[in-house]
Amino acid sequence: CPSMATPTVVLVPTWGAGHLMSLLEAGKRLLARAGGALSLTVLVMRLPSDFEQLAAEVAGLIRREEASGLDVRFVHLPAVEPPTDTVGIEEFVSRFVQAHAPHVRDAVAALDRPVAALVLDFFCTTLLDVSRDLAVPGYVYFTSDAAMLALMLRLPALHEEVTVEFEEMEGGVDVPGLPPVPPSSLPTPVTDKKNPNYTWFVYHGRRFAETDGIMVNTAAELEPSALAAIAGGRCTRGVRAPVIYTIGPVISFPSPSEQKQTSECVRWLDGQPPKSVVLLCFGSGGFFPAPQAHEVAHGLERSGHRFLWVLRGPPAPGSMQPTDANLSELLPDGFLERTKDRGLVWPTWAPQKEMLAHAAVGGFVTHCGWNSVLESLWHGVPMAPWPLYAEQHLNAFMLVEVMGVAVAMEVDRKRGNFVEAAELERAVKELMGGGEEGRKAREKAVEMKAACRNAVEEGGSSYSALQRLSEELCKGALLDTSN
Ligand code: UDP
Repeated sequence: CPSMATPTVVLVPTWGAGHLMSLLEAGKRLLARAGGALSLTVLVMRLPSDFEQLAAEVAGLIRREEASGLDVRFVHLPAVEPPTDTVGIEEFVSRFVQAHAPHVRDAVAALDRPVAALVLDFFCTTLLDVSRDLAVPGYVYFTSDAAMLALMLRLPALHEEVTVEFEEMEGGVDVPGLPPVPPSSLPTPVTDKKNPNYTWFVYHGRRFAETDGIMVNTAAELEPSALAAIAGGRCTRGVRAPVIYTIGPVISFPSPSEQKQTSECVRWLDGQPPKSVVLLCFGSGGFFPAPQAHEVAHGLERSGHRFLWVLRGPPAPGSMQPTDANLSELLPDGFLERTKDRGLVWPTWAPQKEMLAHAAVGGFVTHCGWNSVLESLWHGVPMAPWPLYAEQHLNAFMLVEVMGVAVAMEVDRKRGNFVEAAELERAVKELMGGGEEGRKAREKAVEMKAACRNAVEEGGSSYSALQRLSEELCKGALLDTSN
């Protein structure tokens, strides 16, 4: 579409590592497909003071984007009082976002460009009211998989149908497009109906059906059956099924200048044989106290395999983010010395994408955050799932039971997702060599790597979905300005 004042797509991110970066990257890809006919505006919420480190990271990211030369503008919203009586992160984020609604409305109304759409992070569905108020199309960007989206769309009806806690049900939970889901594989916020986090999930699931469309960070070829169930209205049961755009894998790769500062742990990988190292990394929120770290250490030692273990310590009081690990407190005596020729424990944030891209990495023990899963699939690395929080237990189920790209590992959810040394040893051996299950997971991961790469290439399913969306947004914005 020709540009007078270039229409803008307004992104409303939340700030978690897996959310902000992913939405921004999706927005930039949309911009690329629009070939200069769209611009981006990002609304930035001021983080509460106990997220100080994250706030600094977000500020750094914004500086880099502002210097990138792309048509991306950041609008900082006035600060709001964070809710103080919340019980969990999902409730906190949802209510914190909701409190920004008047500021979002004012900021969008004050923009000096036609607004093509509001694209909301999945915790921001309260802001669909703003898009309706301003008669601007409202979309959601779903940072997780289609399996999770199917569950969330199904949740409002499930809530009516199942009156007990899901774990008290006979058999699995019915999510169209998935095999019956064992209650132990449900996302954390869905495991306790009395918890406000659950109520917010039901709320968001209901509101997803009201959007003009949902962009999902998956590819049509990765999750055909969940996507077919959503499109066929089987998840929403009589309520209109939302229009889905599968645009993934959306992965933001480090720029060449960032990559140049190769970290010591990547250099360590340079010295290891191809596909010989198992990588363990647990997202932005994963950490282990000493008893669990001891089990991991013993399991890795006994497995005999090479390993690169990103180990973080428990958050400091008043913070929600893991700390850099104090290895002498967390690890068994003599462990580092005994394994120094074949293992590295990395106590701080690590360049996960670069590590997964490295030829020496042959398997990934992951917390199953969806970004981590996509990064692993992108490089064809098979996984062993160790879910910890959010929707990771459902992702783990999907990876093993539906996609077949992971070997199963027993995680005791009732004991804080505890894994015994012997079980880790078994899973690592299976993943890195072992038997039939490991071989199949490796084969499937290679298949999925090809599917991911084909999807985002010109003419691929995700490329075409993004193209379609960009054309629709341009057309809508144009019609709007001509009225
Ligand atoms: N990540 C990283 N280094 C770390 C831990 C995480 O680079 O030490 C990145 C990882 O590559 C991914 C993101 O942080 O891109 C985590 O997102 P994910 O959805 O996997 O999990 P979350 O942190 O949201 O639980």
